[in-house]
Amino acid sequence: MRWIEVMWRESSDSGASSSFALRTAGQITTGSHNRRGWFRAMAALLAITASGPIFAQSPPAAPRFVVVLDAAHGGDDTGARLGGEAEKAYTLALSIRLRSLLMARGFAVVTTRESDATLEPDSRAQIANHANAQACISLHAAESGSGVHLFVSSLAPVQDARFLPWKTAQAAWIMRSLSFAGVVNSALSHATVPVTLGRTALPAIDSMSCAAVAIEVAPERSTDAQGPASLDDPDYQARVANALAAALVEWRSQAREDREQ
Ligand SMILES: [Zn+2]
Repeated sequence: MRWIEVMWRESSDSGASSSFALRTAGQITTGSHNRRGWFRAMAALLAITASGPIFAQSPPAAPRFVVVLDAAHGGDDTGARLGGEAEKAYTLALSIRLRSLLMARGFAVVTTRESDATLEPDSRAQIANHANAQACISLHAAESGSGVHLFVSSLAPVQDARFLPWKTAQAAWIMRSLSFAGVVNSALSHATVPVTLGRTALPAIDSMSCAAVAIEVAPERSTDAQGPASLDDPDYQARVANALAAALVEWRSQAREDREQ
């Protein structure tokens, strides 16, 4: 009789997916001199039976969708004064909150800072560019204005991304960043958060090679909002964070549709 010898092999690129390599083992007799081989083959087959069908191929793992969250300011740079709080603390809290919302939705999240650390714009861009991210969001907050101020870099778009100076790397990504801003705008508007769109020079984002926006959260001052406008309003904070998470879910599904076409 013929047996199939099965070797279990972890695929090299990902521990999550595995595959079988099959080869025929030739004649295996049940003679006493080869009884050990027969038992080994039986054990291999039993192991296969226990672990599922032999020829089932695990589906290719979806590529990691990486989001960079950049909590602006930090350390010596306190940012704006927001009531009793510094902007640097507000942006860090929002980054942490958004990170957990995104991780619960299957995103890989890279943050530029996890503590009250001083970080230069170049270091932020370096972290973002190293992450090879599909979306980058720089988080700010302000007392003035209303709702969310949504910014895209004011660099003029360029087509050729091969030899971009570091300080203007974002120029090759402007069109993607504008699309991403459109998705963020829709999600915030859907959550009835007022949005103001703008283009401006953004020292960290201008050096980033990813679809990138800056978000500046201001108190909600829409006419139908209840009570005094405050950045500390937990309902408002939750709506902003959930809308940003929803925007990234939409951005990810658009990216997957693009890839399948
Ligand atoms: Zn700021």
